[in-house]
Amino acid sequence: MGRDATPVAEPWANWAGNVRAAPRVLLRPASLDDLRHAVIAAARRGETVRVAGAGHSFAPLCATNGTLLDLSLLTGVERIDRETGAATIRAGARITDLGPSLLAGGRALANQGDIDRQAIAGAVSTGTHGTGRKHGSFSAAVRAVELMRSDGELVTIDTTDPERLRAVSLSLGLLGVLTRLTLATVPAYKLRERTRALPFDACLDGFLAEETAKRNAEFWWLPAHDLCVLKTFAETDEEPFRTEAPEALPGTIERYLRPDAVDWSWRIYPSTRTFPFVEMEYTLPLSEGPAAMREVRRLMQTQHPECTWAVEYRTQPGEPSLLSPTQGAESVTISLHQAVDLPYEPLFRDAEAIFRDHHGRPHWGKLHWLDRDVIAQLYPELPAFLAIRAGMDPEGMFTNAYLARLGLAGDTSAPAR
Ligand SMILES: Cc1cc2nc3c(=O)[nH]c(=O)nc-3n(C[C@H](O)[C@H](O)[C@H](O)COP(=O)(O)OP(=O)(O)OC[C@H]3O[C@@H](n4cnc5c(N)ncnc54)[C@H](O)[C@@H]3O)c2cc1C
Repeated sequence: MGRDATPVAEPWANWAGNVRAAPRVLLRPASLDDLRHAVIAAARRGETVRVAGAGHSFAPLCATNGTLLDLSLLTGVERIDRETGAATIRAGARITDLGPSLLAGGRALANQGDIDRQAIAGAVSTGTHGTGRKHGSFSAAVRAVELMRSDGELVTIDTTDPERLRAVSLSLGLLGVLTRLTLATVPAYKLRERTRALPFDACLDGFLAEETAKRNAEFWWLPAHDLCVLKTFAETDEEPFRTEAPEALPGTIERYLRPDAVDWSWRIYPSTRTFPFVEMEYTLPLSEGPAAMREVRRLMQTQHPECTWAVEYRTQPGEPSLLSPTQGAESVTISLHQAVDLPYEPLFRDAEAIFRDHHGRPHWGKLHWLDRDVIAQLYPELPAFLAIRAGMDPEGMFTNAYLARLGLAGDTSAPAR
């Protein structure tokens, strides 16, 4: 039995500050023995356990008044398989730390999202994604995981057990504590980033052709300007460079244009997000994207001028995880943002109605107002996920009140503290 994990004194809040929790104890294990000790102690007390990654989810996935675990001391790339290129990474590693280690082995992640501050286990557990139909989310890259169950035992799930891999590759911390993840990688690559401003219709109408031609593409619609900023990434052998950003006045569209740049992929993908905001994102069938985007624009222009934050439009391939919001079909994702201290619920709820009309499913890490009946309809494989959960967490320890309310905790009778 290892020594006690270090208790951390402060209460917990997520990055945006819209979720706060007062766990009975917040522990930062420095080894797998520490982690085992913490998990077994919580099991003896009949307490629920949540793991927080970097706290970048907007939904209360990590909130608990039981034991909260922080794996930020269990970090680093452990090995890169010479034959397959798959990288085995400790669960607490931040995405931002992976680029240099993978590059040293000649490898890189095939795709990344808007920022790289998340823990790798957190990004995988919510299906965090970038843009483009050619390269999928963090969940889609999972080839194996090691996780700790409530009895402290370590279990490995890999491609020899495809159904459980489909469950654990997007599992919201419901199946145990992920300790190691093995992710597919690709040969290291450089990207050329370009942004340009376009009228709304031209951008939306031409987007799929642009996205097909490039490695990755996305656009942001800026309500205050009624213009879009299209961002594309193309693979290149050019030497890295960054042009100086010309001085742009506040309130001008130029503020949103990034200077052309070439660099290693992991330096190009992430942006910096300074102002705390909250976000709602829905994943929709590819063909529904344009109509839904037009309706969201009309909604914001006519009923919600209070929100001037950009709306992001991305694509995703169909993905195999049982709880993937793509449910196996090529998809569009549309994300709304609002400053955390401004009203957001009326807009988000109105937009949610549009997304629901277009057969959307919410991002698990972001805000939505669905109930368990709707979630059950949207996820026909939820019973398969719950059966796997019942086998892996029979005491119902790895849950919380929010997840139980959504029907994701199954029938376990443990108190969802
Ligand atoms: C500024 C910002 C930008 C974002 N950009 C994107 C984007 O481009 N694309 C996108 O898809 N999403 C994006 N998100 C959402 C974000 O990527 C997800 O919510 C992600 O889960 C956050 O990772 P995290 O490490 O902070 O995890 P947390 O929010 O801390 O946790 C997420 C889930 O993972 C579980 N978990 C974490 N570690 C473990 C573990 N070791 N074992 C078991 N379960 C674990 C938690 O219990 C929880 O259920 C963004 C969020 C913010 C705040």
